[in-house]
Amino acid sequence: MPPYNSNTSISYLKGVGPSRADLLKKELGIRTFGDLINFFPNRYIDRTQFYKINELQPNTSEIQVVGKISNIKTVKQKRGSRLVATFVDGTGTMELVWFRGVKWIKENLKVNVPYVVFGKATSFNRAFNIAHPEMELVSEYKRNLRSVMQPVYPSTELLTNKGVTNRVIQKMMQSLFEEYKGKFQETLSSSILKDEGFISKSEAYFNIHFPKSQELLTKAEQRLKFEELFYIQLQLIRKKMIHKSKIKGYPFEQIGKYFNTFYNDYLPFDLTNAQKRVLKEIRADVASNAQMNRLLQGDVGSGKTIVALLTMLIGLDNGYQAAIMAPTEILATQHYNAINSLLEEMDVHVELLTGSVKAKKRREIHAALESGELKILIGTHALIEDKVKFQNLGIAIIDEQHRFGVEQRSKLWQKNELPPHVLVMTATPIPRTLAMSVYGDLDISVIDELPPGRKEIATAHRFDSNRLSVFKFMKDEIAKGRQVYVVYPLIQESEKMDYKDLMDGYESIAREFPLPKFQISIVHGKMKPEDKEYEMQRFIKGETQIMVATTVIEVGVNVPNASVMIIESAERFGLSQLHQLRGRVGRGAEQSYCILMTSHKLSSEAKTRLETMVKTTDGFEVADVDLKLRGPGNIMGKQQSGVLNLKIADITKDSLLLSKARATAFNVLQVDPSLELADNLPIRKTYVGIQKNTAVWSNIS
Ligand code: ADP
Ligand code: MG
Repeated sequence: MPPYNSNTSISYLKGVGPSRADLLKKELGIRTFGDLINFFPNRYIDRTQFYKINELQPNTSEIQVVGKISNIKTVKQKRGSRLVATFVDGTGTMELVWFRGVKWIKENLKVNVPYVVFGKATSFNRAFNIAHPEMELVSEYKRNLRSVMQPVYPSTELLTNKGVTNRVIQKMMQSLFEEYKGKFQETLSSSILKDEGFISKSEAYFNIHFPKSQELLTKAEQRLKFEELFYIQLQLIRKKMIHKSKIKGYPFEQIGKYFNTFYNDYLPFDLTNAQKRVLKEIRADVASNAQMNRLLQGDVGSGKTIVALLTMLIGLDNGYQAAIMAPTEILATQHYNAINSLLEEMDVHVELLTGSVKAKKRREIHAALESGELKILIGTHALIEDKVKFQNLGIAIIDEQHRFGVEQRSKLWQKNELPPHVLVMTATPIPRTLAMSVYGDLDISVIDELPPGRKEIATAHRFDSNRLSVFKFMKDEIAKGRQVYVVYPLIQESEKMDYKDLMDGYESIAREFPLPKFQISIVHGKMKPEDKEYEMQRFIKGETQIMVATTVIEVGVNVPNASVMIIESAERFGLSQLHQLRGRVGRGAEQSYCILMTSHKLSSEAKTRLETMVKTTDGFEVADVDLKLRGPGNIMGKQQSGVLNLKIADITKDSLLLSKARATAFNVLQVDPSLELADNLPIRKTYVGIQKNTAVWSNIS
């Protein structure tokens, strides 16, 4: 056993006193030996490559040159002096410059002896120089055992200013390896090491910090990335297993008259194969006596509503009530209208409960809910008020997951004996890798197929200078009886400007599309809810041909006759927002169009977003690009950062390793759920250690 363990404070390490320890903690979060060994380089400098001075280009950064100092001089400056050495290699001349420690360096530099010089080259008037280069005599360079790939650790300005350079971190790492005599506890089972062909933990640590070769560095990275992903998956899958065995739910054992009558007599279309598959997954879940905790992903228009309704009908068949909770009044109303009309011929009591329902009606709803006579309640946050008491809520459908917090949701079933089954629906496709990492403790269903007969939305990018032809196109479509959305960005910081843009845009459209031939609706966030509703309704009823709006229409609005979506200043929208907006059209039988209007000034990221939109209408493909552009933390929000704050793996790049890690974690737990086998002892120890320090954040209940 080494004399120290991974919880030992870093201040006990050779060369690290209390003040340096404090700095490391503040700047890098390094407190212990364990933190330090798990502090990985973010890149490596290839020290195998040597340059000739005449090959240097103004953009070459870190370089290594072999040559001799031909001359040294001290140059007086305003304050103190600098040391300038002329360095030659037979192909040219460059300068080495020092501003600090001039005296000491001058005494130690040797003239006309071969050196290996390393550092950041900058050019001035085609002459190159390196400030404070690393110097090594060629004779020493040949003698020293070194790693060819030199690690570069993440750093901060304060650390550099206080002298904690990359070199210093490397030395600390070296002391740490000396303390441990290079032996670190193994954290994977021997069967995983063997099956995956991984190197040992000690070897991996050594080669991530002091790579002996590119090949060993790659092996070290693979093993450490796998391990990081494996333990996240192990936690998530274990949590899911515990949930399934501990959290009981109401078993929906039978399919009865509600489901069958609707399915056989009133289903307005054949379900797509994807809808059928998802329904099967849900049925299997609710029939067991564990609580369902399922995420239903499906792009806009993929037909989630009918799946939600059929799921609720299974609940009704088993004597339970059902609820749908939506993030906005408009959406809740739309669900209510859709479901009411689907159930028109059946005897099922459905109600809508939102903030604007009058007190008298509200009381009626409360009473019918408690008596159990009201079967399906659809609404907004109003559903989680204390007065709302279900007699027996068996299934809760939550639309648009990220808008409701966990506590909010559980309020829905505070009066329940057991939690209801929960189905969370989201129209924002989440890349598979992200879903696995963040929702790895949930069951996930995906509707990855659109109902038949949909025409792909044609998407084009146009510059503001093409506006006249865009107006012409709008007129042609309106003449065919279609309706058009024109959407403006609204971003808080520049709210005033945004409103001005919106109003200017509205005016120019009003001029181009004059009354009485054309009618225009306008909707934005500063309007009173009833005015907004009035304008929306005029558009929904087809009384207006153009809807000028800010992103308030982003979520869920369904106007099948609207077939053109024009997005103004499209370069200012994020990809998922653009995709959501585009999903407002293409809901009817007509060919639909999305036109992305921008100025000529575009960042390269904006260009990628626009190109992606033009290239594909597949929400999962869009989400993948979004993930690469913005990174996982920005997509899922900060709450999940516990799961996404990875030290070495990168879920946008390591998707194969992630799948492998998940499958391996699953196999391990399936064979040995409480990690009792001798071979799993290292896993058990590591897992317990992690459990003590962190808890994987749960999203649903
Ligand atoms: P979303 O997944 O966006 O909530 P909806 O459930 O609102 O999608 O469905 C979009 C439209 O597609 C609705 O008009 C719905 O009636 C229709 N639809 C859903 N499933 C099918 C299907 N299997 N065949 C034909 N039309 C369908
Ligand atoms: Mg929907």
